[in-house]
Amino acid sequence: MTVKPRLVLLGKQGAGKGTQAKSLARHYDIAHLSTGDLFRAQAAAGTAFGLEAKRFMDDGELVPDAIVMGVVEECLAPGGPLADGFILDGFPRNKAQAVELERLLDGSPLHAIVHLDVPREVVVERLSERRVCVKNGAHIYSVVKPPAVLWICDECGGEVVQRDDDNPDSINKRLDTYERDTRPIREFYKASGHKVVTVDGVGENRVVFERLTSAIDAAVV
Ligand code: AMP
Repeated sequence: MTVKPRLVLLGKQGAGKGTQAKSLARHYDIAHLSTGDLFRAQAAAGTAFGLEAKRFMDDGELVPDAIVMGVVEECLAPGGPLADGFILDGFPRNKAQAVELERLLDGSPLHAIVHLDVPREVVVERLSERRVCVKNGAHIYSVVKPPAVLWICDECGGEVVQRDDDNPDSINKRLDTYERDTRPIREFYKASGHKVVTVDGVGENRVVFERLTSAIDAAVV
C-alpha cells in the first residue's frame, strides 16, 4: 500500500484495540495515538494535565472534551506526529469529538473507520484479566498470558500491573458509557459518507490482525 492510511479504530474497552492498533501501526508504518495511554503516561509523570485527567479516568468517566481536543489538536498539527498517516485508538469517544476531528482533518479525510466487534460478556472477562506495563500501556498482558518473568514487561522491563480502572464497577460504568456515547459515532460516520467496516474481534490476535488488514486494504484504495 503506497498511501499512508488515516484510520479510526472503534470498539468497546477490552476489544483489543490497543494490541491491534500497535500491530497495525507497525504494519502500515503509521503513528499510533492512544489517548488513554497518553493520559496514563502524563498521570504517571505527575503533570498537572495528567493528574486532572486521572481524576476522571479513575472514576470510569470520560475526560472532558476540551482537555482531549487540546492534546489531539497538537498531535494533528502540520509536521506533528500524525502528519504522515495514523491509527486513532480510544478517540473519538463521542460525537462531539468526532465532529471536531472532522474539522481538524479538513482536506485530509479519514480513509476508514474500523469497528472491532466483541460481545460485552467477552470484554468484561478480558478486562478483569488484563494486566498492563506501567512504563508503556501498549504493552499488554493478562493473567492467562503473563510476561515470561512475573510481572516484568518482556518488552521494556516495566512493572506489569492491573489498571486502576479495570475493577468491576469501573468496567461496567465504562461499558455503559461506550453504549451511550461511543456506539452512536458509527452512525455519524456512516451518515457523513465515511467507510465504516466491522471486523470480528473474537479469536487469536494473529487471526484478528489478518481480518483487520484484509478489511483495511479493501477500504483504503
Ligand atoms: P482507554 O485506555 O482508551 O480505555 O482510556 C482510559 C480512560 O481514559 C477512559 O476511561 C477515559 O477516562 C479516558 N479517555 C481516553 N480517551 C478518551 C477520549 N477520547 N475522551 C475522553 N476520555 C478519554
